[in-house]
Order: sequence, then structure tokens, then C-alpha cells
Amino acid sequence: MGAVEKKRSTLAATGAWEYAPAPESRDIVSFEERYGLFIGGEEVSPRSRTWFPTISPATEEPLAEVAQAGPKDVALAVDAAREGFEAWSAWKPSERAKVLFRIARILQERARELAVAESLDGGKPIKESRDVDLPLAAAHFFYYAGWADKLEYAFPGRRPRPLGVAAQIVPWNFPLLMLAWKIAPALACGNTVVLKPAETTPLTALLFADVCRQAQVPPGVVNIVTGDGSTGAHLVRAEGIDKVAFTGSTEVGKAIQRELAGRDIALTLELGGKAANIVFDDCALDQAVEGIVNGIYFNQGHVCCAGSRLLVQESIHDQLVRKLKRRMATLRVGDPLDKNTDIGAINSKAQLDRITELVEAGTEEGAEIYQPPCRLPEKGWWFAPTVFTGVAQSHRIAREEIFGPVLSVLTFRTPDEAVEKANNTMYGLSAGVWTEKGSRILWMADRLRAGVVWGNTFNRFDPASPFGGYKESGFGREGGRHGLEAYLRFA
Ligand code: NAD
Repeated sequence: MGAVEKKRSTLAATGAWEYAPAPESRDIVSFEERYGLFIGGEEVSPRSRTWFPTISPATEEPLAEVAQAGPKDVALAVDAAREGFEAWSAWKPSERAKVLFRIARILQERARELAVAESLDGGKPIKESRDVDLPLAAAHFFYYAGWADKLEYAFPGRRPRPLGVAAQIVPWNFPLLMLAWKIAPALACGNTVVLKPAETTPLTALLFADVCRQAQVPPGVVNIVTGDGSTGAHLVRAEGIDKVAFTGSTEVGKAIQRELAGRDIALTLELGGKAANIVFDDCALDQAVEGIVNGIYFNQGHVCCAGSRLLVQESIHDQLVRKLKRRMATLRVGDPLDKNTDIGAINSKAQLDRITELVEAGTEEGAEIYQPPCRLPEKGWWFAPTVFTGVAQSHRIAREEIFGPVLSVLTFRTPDEAVEKANNTMYGLSAGVWTEKGSRILWMADRLRAGVVWGNTFNRFDPASPFGGYKESGFGREGGRHGLEAYLRFA
């Protein structure tokens, strides 16, 4: 170790990296004190007469009050969407495309405001909401705007028709991006939507309502109902919907599937994951370390496709773990609005409790825990980046989705064993393979039961690329031409 590197690692080990604060200004966004629901192109007061606060997970300060939509509110929203559908589905597809292009451009214009709102309400680092969530959300609308008048070419000879009213329910980890994944293809295909954001992160969806007004989206085409799981359940049960698109936990996904059994309603489910990030001994090790860090610590590990199980070839295990720990010590945990922050706040107290419980189980079951020294803020909900070594397949931390910044390291000797271990999970959303041999990446990709397999990279997204799961990670694809199919019927 050279003198400079030694000094750096000592600094890192004591948590004494000093950066000048670089906070993004929050003045760019202003929230209303209280929000209603967005129904039929207007903000309406909830019939339920109930509101609840949405709070910043980094400071626990209330940001605004949002409506808790009840069954009557949901029914109104579905009626508005049905009415909107009559007109919207008859629009010339090229005119629908213009609306989507307008939304995309407005998202770009208001990107800074929306990124700050996302980081305030959800706790994710501003550099991620600014550089990932917002650009990808806009890209999704651009991409599907392009398809709106080309559906006949996407599915030649199959006469694609919209389904009708889509009920869409999204989680809190990528609030605006998941909204874009849902709304853009639905609208491009001529459907109308009722979208329910997660209860801990409703604000960017409510700001999106304003984007819709600005983009002159016709009334009833996009409706937004806020509320908790009970609002989601009312939406799934509502009369007059033709499709349910759900992203969230496997448990709720299964409940929705049971609820819809016997009804003529199309369904797509994007559920949980427990991805294997597989590192072979011939890989570029430093590059792999970056990929591992990005795979599990991006967005505090609140990522369905996070590389939460690291499978390392036994011969490089010690060297890799040493490098990984050194890199972890440089991660900065803290204020989501600071541009230097790598790991922001945990989204909610409930999620922090779940992470803590599983980490305790990991220690009790005999795995070895490492957390770099780092100072966590006193207010808010935080969890230090964590790695477990000596993990066995049977441990809960190797089987259950933690949805936090916690990595479990397992080893393998041969490619066959890597495949066997990677597939030994109830999930099948994503995987990563690190090796210098392209042929080995292809060999592995053929055998891995995962919807996405990344080669020498991780957590890369593109609107043109389909995303979705096998097994208990759900079914149906979002993104790409495949993503259109989920919102069409074929005459
Ligand atoms: P969750 O299932 O608790 O909630 C997701 C959404 O469903 C929220 O809007 C919630 O209010 C609503 N909901 C809750 N109960 C409901 C019910 N009975 N009926 C209808 N709606 C209901 O999940 P979460 O904790 O918010 O999100 C984390 C989960 O989402 C993780 O398991 C993660 O893997 C998964 N996820 C998957 C993808 C993917 O693309 N596969 C993407 C992001 C997140």
C-alpha cells in the first residue's frame, strides 16, 4: 500500500473524510399544505374527508398532507377514467404521441424540482434522483411516445386495441420512475389510468398531476388517488377496470391475483427479488467491486433487482472481500439533498425495522457482519452499509428480500455450482455475471432463471429493454416492445 493510499484508508477507517457540504437548494420545490385527489383533470377533495401526513424520512418533518382515498373516491376516479377512455381511445395515435412527448419534455424542464421532491419525500440521494430517476422517467415517455402511432408495425397483422381503464399501483422505492413505467405505455396504447402511489412517497405523483395539466392531457386520461394499502385494495376491487398493473411485494401481489381470480381483468405483477451477483476469478476485480457496490448500495438497497447475494468464486473470496470493505468505508451516508451523499435515508420506520430484524437474524444464524465506521444522523431513519460473510444458503439473509443496504456473501467453485446456487431462490428477477469471457456470460445467461442478466455491469436500465420476473418475482414485462403488449388486446 502506497503512502497516499495508506493515509486515505486510515481516514476512511476513522470515518474522517471531510467534504464541504454541498446541499441542493430545496427552494425550487414548494408543496401545498394539503393535497386532494386528481380526478377528471381536477384536484378534488376526498369524499372520505381523511388526510394523512407524508414525512421526510431524513428529518421526520411533515412535508404535506395527502388524501386517503376511500371506496367512493376510487369509484369516482374509475368513472372518470372510463369517460376519458371513450375520447382518448378515439384520438388519432399521432395526437396521443404529441401529448406523451409534451409530458417527456416537461419532465426534463422540471427535472430539478421533481428530483428535489423525490429526495425529500423518499430519502434517496439527490445525485440518484437527479441522474437516474428523472432522466429515465423522461426517457420512458419519449420512448413510448415514439410507439404510439406505430402499434400496427410493432404487432404486424394482429390489430392491436387498447384494453380500457388500467388500475396501476406502485411502490415507494422509485416513485416517479415506476409511475412513468406504468403510465407511458398505457397511454401510448390508448388506455386511461387510475394510479395509486405508495403512501410514504405520494408527492411526485401529485406534482405529476400538475405536469399533466401543463401538457394538456385530456380530463380523465390520468387520475391519481393517494392512500395506503386499503386504497390499493379498493382499486383492485373496483367495477369498471380492465387491467391491473402492480409493482410491490410478492405477498400483496399474490393477494391481488387471488382477488382477480374469475374476473376478466388483465394482470401484470412486478414483485420482489433476491438477485445473485456472480463474480468469477478471471474478472476485472476493481470494476466488479464497483458493480457490487452499485448493485446493493444504490438507493439504500431499496431496489427489487438489487444484487443482494454476492456469489464469489472461492479462490478470490478473501481478496475481493478486502477490496469491498475498503470501498465501503468511503461511502457517505447522510443528508439526501447533499450532492456528495451515496446512501440516503431508509424510506420509513417500518422498513428500517424490517432491515434491522433480518440483520439480527443474520448475526444469530452465525454469519459474520461488517459495517464500516460511519456517523449516522440522529434524526430520521438510517442504516449503515452492511456486508455479511460466511453466509449459508439456509440463512434468512440469503433467502429473504431485505430491501436495504445489506449484502450477503456466498462462495462457489465451478460455473455449475454458481448456476445452482443463483437459481436456488423463490425469486427470479435479475442477476449479474462478472468474467472476462463473453462466452461464459452467454453460457450463464442461458441457465440463470432471471428476467434480466447483466454482464460486467449491474442495475442498468433502458426504456427499450424489457424488465420483469420469473417465479415469485411476477409475470409480464415492462419496457421495450414487450411493455406495450401488457396494455393491448388483439382483435
Ligand atoms: P407493498 O406491496 O407493501 O406496496 C406496494 C404498493 O401496493 C403500495 O402502493 C401499497 O400501498 C399498495 N398495497 C399494499 N397493500 C395492498 C393491497 N392489499 N391491495 C392493493 N394494493 C396494496 O410493497 P412496498 O413495500 O411498497 O415495496 C417494496 C416491494 O416492491 C419489494 O418487495 C420490491 O421488490 C418490490 N418492487 C418490485 C419491482 C419490480 O419491478 N419487480 C420494482 C420496485 C419494487
